[in-house]
Amino acid sequence: MEKTEASIYDLLVIGGGPAGYAAAIYGARGGLTVLVLEQLSAGGQMALTSQVDNYPGFPEGIDGFLLGEAMGKQAEQFGVKTKLAEVQALRLAGPLKTAETSSGRFYGRALIFAAGAVPRKLNLAGEEALTGRGVHYCAACDGMAYRDQTVMVVGGGNSAVEDALHLSRLAKKVILVHRRDTLRAEKFMQDALEAMPNVDYVWNSTVTALHAGDSGRLSHVTLQNLPSGVFSDVPVDGLFASIGRQPASELVRGQLDLDPAGYVLADETTRTSVPGVFAAGDVRTKPLRQIVTATADGAAAAYFAQRYLG
Ligand code: NAP
Repeated sequence: MEKTEASIYDLLVIGGGPAGYAAAIYGARGGLTVLVLEQLSAGGQMALTSQVDNYPGFPEGIDGFLLGEAMGKQAEQFGVKTKLAEVQALRLAGPLKTAETSSGRFYGRALIFAAGAVPRKLNLAGEEALTGRGVHYCAACDGMAYRDQTVMVVGGGNSAVEDALHLSRLAKKVILVHRRDTLRAEKFMQDALEAMPNVDYVWNSTVTALHAGDSGRLSHVTLQNLPSGVFSDVPVDGLFASIGRQPASELVRGQLDLDPAGYVLADETTRTSVPGVFAAGDVRTKPLRQIVTATADGAAAAYFAQRYLG
């Protein structure tokens, strides 16, 4: 795309999750022209959560996909443009920031990087080939395929317990495998899972190998009990890895300062190591990654971007 006025925005927002759309809403209401670049659909990772119960204002809870759509619509009302495109490269140095995308090149006088986080992988041999063929990272998206079957969930945080609970309503049996002997999920979620009769727990254990059957789909996994070192094979129809997320910061690696885990270094002002570039939401170094903290980041990023633009 030519570098025309039409392709130059005051603010480019990378990522259309809660952080990105909060930034877009605040930026547009502050008089900036704003383009949000989003790969899939408004809402980001939040859109994959079927029930959000801890975002204030929704006493009955709300579907994460619907909340994402609502955020996108709200931004649109203030003149924000959204382009569904894959961002392939970013050039952040200098006064004009560039995003190369699958739908052309866009420019911003300031840029808010709100690309979020992606599911962490188990890092096992064959994992990639089995992804979608028995190995999954999102129970809300893929759980339906395992009605009346046996599934394993790996992890001990809120995601694992939420996924196990979701799957326990569909599957014949759910096996929750955790590397410790206690869960770190919130108590009320643990209580809800304990009430399900078809959930087995395997404590102090990790998955050490994935095995495919003749169909090329996952057929069983090898577990290792950590205290004893003993291995055992467990047949499963599906495995959901719910072991947290990692920052989607590859696009800015080498351009912005990152912490050792790959999160973009930025404080509450969301300012990064490059002037005019701000990091908001799950991709930023912060103690708590929630929808409510992501939207707070978005508002701060828009505020400091506006101050930067003068
Ligand atoms: P998390 O809280 O970081 O928990 C990840 C879990 O996976 C931990 O139990 C961890 O074990 C385990 N784990 C990490 N790497 C592993 C590996 N390589 N092999 C085996 N196990 C591994 O991640 P999360 O559950 O995805 O949650 C992320 C954030 O989203 C949290 O802030 C959470 O509260 C939030 N969240 C909220 C809700 C909700 O409120 N409804 C739902 C989902 C997520 P250790 O315990 O040993 O570290």
